[in-house]
Amino acid sequence: MKLRKGDLIKVVRGKDKGKEGKIETILPKLSKVIVNNVNQYKRHLKARSQNQPSEIVTLTKPLPVTNVALICPKCHLQTRVGVKEVKGNKIRICKKCQAEIWVTYKINL
Ligand SMILES: [Zn+2]
Repeated sequence: MKLRKGDLIKVVRGKDKGKEGKIETILPKLSKVIVNNVNQYKRHLKARSQNQPSEIVTLTKPLPVTNVALICPKCHLQTRVGVKEVKGNKIRICKKCQAEIWVTYKINL
C-alpha cells in the first residue's frame, strides 16, 4: 500500500470520478481507502419510535485503491508513487517531479 492517511487523492474510476479528497482511513487488508466526502451514500433510517424519528444518514464507503490516484503535493499533478531508499528508509517520491512525498500527519497503527 503506497498511499498514506492524509494524502490528497483524485478519484479516477467509479461514480465519483474526478473528485478530490484527503484519505481519512487506510484499510490495507481490503486494499481500500476511505476518502473524506467521496463515495458517499445516503441511507434512510425508518422511525423506530416517536422518540427516534426517521432520518437520512450519509455513509462514506471505502474505495478500492485502484480507483484513486495520488495528487503530488509539489507539482499538483495526478501521479504514480515511486519509492527510493535513503539510509535504509523507504521514501515515497512523485514519479513526475521526483519530489519526496511526506504525509501531512502521523499515522497511528
Ligand atoms: Zn510531483
